[in-house]
Amino acid sequence: VDVFARVAKQRAAALRKSVTRTLVIAMVAPELPEEQALVELAAERLEDFLDAIDNQAATIPLRAVLLALNGYIRGRYRVKPENMSAEQREQLVRELCEPEAGPLGRTLERVRSLLPIALPGMRQLTGAVREMVVLAYYSSPGADRLTGYVPAWKRPELTSVLPSLKEPPPRFSVEEVLAKQRAGRDVPARQLFAYDGRPRVAVIGSGAGGAVAAARLAKTCDVAIFEAGPSFLPHEYPLDTLAGLALMFKDGLMTFTEGQKLQMLQGRLVGGGTVMTSGMSIRPRKGTLASWHRQGIDHDGMNRALDAVERRLRLAPLNDELLSDLGYLWRAKDSALSEELLFEVPLSNTTTHAHQHEADPHGGKYKRGERCLACGLCNYGCRFGHKLSMDLTYIPDAKALGARVHANLGVHRVVSKRDPRSGETRVSGIVLQRDKSAVIEVDHVVLACGAVGTPQLLLRSMAEDAGLASIAGAGQVGKRLGFNYGTTVLADFGHVPPKPGEAGVQIHYVASKPGDDRFVLENAYLPPALLSSVIPGSGAQHRDWMKHYKRLSMIANTIGSPQTGVIKPNGMVSYDFGPSELDLIHESIVTSVRSYLRAGASRVAIAGVRGYDDTASQFFAGEDTSEPAIRDKVRRIAPDTDRLMMMSAHLQGGMVVGHDPASSAVSPDFHVHGVKNLMVADASLFPSTIVVNVQWAVMAVAQLAAEHMEASIHGRSPGRGRALNVTLSADA
Ligand SMILES: Cc1cc2nc3c(=O)[nH]c(=O)nc-3n(C[C@H](O)[C@H](O)[C@H](O)COP(=O)(O)OP(=O)(O)OC[C@H]3O[C@@H](n4cnc5c(N)ncnc54)[C@H](O)[C@@H]3O)c2cc1C
Repeated sequence: VDVFARVAKQRAAALRKSVTRTLVIAMVAPELPEEQALVELAAERLEDFLDAIDNQAATIPLRAVLLALNGYIRGRYRVKPENMSAEQREQLVRELCEPEAGPLGRTLERVRSLLPIALPGMRQLTGAVREMVVLAYYSSPGADRLTGYVPAWKRPELTSVLPSLKEPPPRFSVEEVLAKQRAGRDVPARQLFAYDGRPRVAVIGSGAGGAVAAARLAKTCDVAIFEAGPSFLPHEYPLDTLAGLALMFKDGLMTFTEGQKLQMLQGRLVGGGTVMTSGMSIRPRKGTLASWHRQGIDHDGMNRALDAVERRLRLAPLNDELLSDLGYLWRAKDSALSEELLFEVPLSNTTTHAHQHEADPHGGKYKRGERCLACGLCNYGCRFGHKLSMDLTYIPDAKALGARVHANLGVHRVVSKRDPRSGETRVSGIVLQRDKSAVIEVDHVVLACGAVGTPQLLLRSMAEDAGLASIAGAGQVGKRLGFNYGTTVLADFGHVPPKPGEAGVQIHYVASKPGDDRFVLENAYLPPALLSSVIPGSGAQHRDWMKHYKRLSMIANTIGSPQTGVIKPNGMVSYDFGPSELDLIHESIVTSVRSYLRAGASRVAIAGVRGYDDTASQFFAGEDTSEPAIRDKVRRIAPDTDRLMMMSAHLQGGMVVGHDPASSAVSPDFHVHGVKNLMVADASLFPSTIVVNVQWAVMAVAQLAAEHMEASIHGRSPGRGRALNVTLSADA
């Protein structure tokens, strides 16, 4: 049986690789003879990537689509994928990108209309496949010469401070990646907590929320942090993009809402999403805090907590010396932009100034160089120790106070008991994913698995635990999920600026329309592999954009969605874009396109799958930049969101705070309605989406939640705990 399974596995991999090679050639349009080896490598690398993902179930859709395409090519074109002619390859990609035109798209539409489940449309499938195929190609170190990108290991300012920075091998080791995702998983049960007699608190999740709550609670409780993902020291963050995606992002980035309408980027490692941020930190708006106050999240408490986080993370404006020219090109003094857009330089917990490292309670032992070196690789963790994310701040704070941190130790469910005296439901233990038959006894639980992870964990628990299934807020668990979402607008400025994107920090400006707080625009920089996945079009056109990589700039529009998403116990998220959302998405794209054209861009494109050749959907210098003209064109290009690549790295809600269990899952003192010792401290608490970047607000809400938790655990009022604030004492 084993031999048969192995042969079948190898055969399936060979079939997928032959399709991947074909798609790479069609989508990337290799021009040079030596690129043949890169095509081959991309097919191998994509398979390696799929094998390296801890949750193999997440790889099934992509594996299945590649196999289905193999069958389709053989049936329709009567050739093996590797024997397709150039015309056949082009026709295939046209069928994928322009589904209305071909039998493949029409068949899929028929199947979709017959099935009761939300299957993705052809454009969504193509978008997901295209993203991974081009990523596999451009993430190979050999592809850098095609874009002119200078990788980290060839930059003396980086290698001089970190000599271990060496070119990674063309293929990363799948075994090593898998081993990293298993390290520590078998820690004996008796070592999970200190068992020192203090109340035992299990903090589940180590991101923005979990880390802050743990650091606060560790002062007075026996805290253990359980984290599903691996743990890294700064110099261990992987250099290979695909290894990084497999190790650090949930399901290797292949996380979509039902029907693949929206891609959700979620961190899965010690430090959670904070490890992958560019450092952008924006204080939530006054209006947000006022509306949250009405839901029970104390306004003054939030402001105090925001201040405490600001001090602990040494938030500071970006250092001008470390900015590339991309922001300046966009803002372009002579353009009329400033009449319409307010440009602000955000605060950052990336240490672009040496003084941000001052008074580090842990001695700055991982920093290499005095301050951020502008390597542009923030999205895979800072190898140089210059991002003050959770792994370098609140997690070590918690550890210094005795907390234990367990990487690769996901929690399967929480277990409850009914208190015989009071009749109340109380959490009594947790069950780890590694052994679903053993219950670890705990006194209190803090859920901090993120906006999808926390409701999912509780829903899973409710399915197996009658006590939890009948709690007051049960009906609201997994409801009211929202996003800051958006798509990417790319601009080609026609010349390589003196300081192209790779020479500066990732984000420069955040821009908004004065008086309009429905969306913000952020100009960002991405290294070639990630950028290749948002460039529209295929073949020669995609290649042309990538060839001019150093001339490119991008804006990410960030729109606060309504909280209409629903999370299911299996973790699936359903979310439908309403008509008014489409209008706002269009408006934010129109603003981005106009601002780029008026700043002097020679061409502007929008991420998404619309056609094999996307020229008709692009904007060019000299075009009418009036608002109605651009708006009409944007509406024609994207009559629905299917034609846009919609993404969110800012998930919010799902366990929202409120007074009434009929409309909220968590009470204003941050325990799950009806369960006093089950508390929540992460982005799932947000009673509305906040538009601006979320990490600062998540940390502050977790700080406030932890004050309440500490008070409830020790039976005193929340205010008293303030003196114990570890973040403040660390400052001193
Ligand atoms: C690529 C990227 C870039 C970003 N850039 C910015 C930025 O520049 N500025 C900004 O403000 N925000 C940014 N964000 C968003 C920010 O990182 C998140 O909003 C924030 O980290 C959310 O905090 P959280 O505690 O709710 O969840 P997370 O930080 O996601 O932490 C949740 C943790 O729980 C773990 N977990 C889940 N389920 C379980 C389980 N069952 N058992 C144990 N552990 C579990 C997960 O592995 C994860 O590590 C970015 C996010 C990403 C992904």
